[in-house]
Amino acid sequence: MPEVLYLASNNRHKLEELAAICRAHLPGTEFRLAKDLDPAIDWDETGDTFEANARIKADVVLAAVRKNGLRAAVLADDSGLAVDALGGAPGVHSARYAGAQGDDAANNAKLLTALAGTPDAQRTGRFVCVLHYIDADGNASVFRGECEGTILRAARGDKGFGYDPLFMARGESVSFAELGAGAKNTVSHRRRALDLWLAAL
Ligand code: IMP
Repeated sequence: MPEVLYLASNNRHKLEELAAICRAHLPGTEFRLAKDLDPAIDWDETGDTFEANARIKADVVLAAVRKNGLRAAVLADDSGLAVDALGGAPGVHSARYAGAQGDDAANNAKLLTALAGTPDAQRTGRFVCVLHYIDADGNASVFRGECEGTILRAARGDKGFGYDPLFMARGESVSFAELGAGAKNTVSHRRRALDLWLAAL
């Protein structure tokens, strides 16, 4: 179990979900944000896979950990929504699908427009979450979680973030944004990836 774990994300919502899921399993671990190490820390997500981008983030944060002379583990997450009818888009571009980084309303509007002519049966897709973990000794491992579902025809619910209002997980009758964090965290892509990571620790 890591004593100190730096989470490599600037997305506050994702961090809250990650920390909420992890804390119960790792009561002895101190969670810190990459920004606590260096307020200016940043990275370019130039990879064309979730795996590549998770690794970029983890390596940047590991470099900062080492530069500060610390001994700590690093966990990086890259995630997004892959829609079958769009050939896997928005995929690694999920956060900036409509242009500006993290403009959820614009991203959702663009997704609805892109799928306007797509019949219900073909509105399938999945949230993907890839975790890149580097332990305090520098050993790296990668975990991928997916959550299958469908893309709704209109936004539903006001909880969550990102594409949550448009995504209904398989077997559910409400969107992720209607489910709320507690229920979402039991079935989500992030939960699945974290479970794999926790099992490997
Ligand atoms: P990242 O920070 O580069 O991993 O960007 C992930 C983007 O994918 C987010 O900004 C959201 O648009 C989308 N995304 C990832 N996970 C979720 C989720 O659990 N719910 C809704 N959208 C998500």
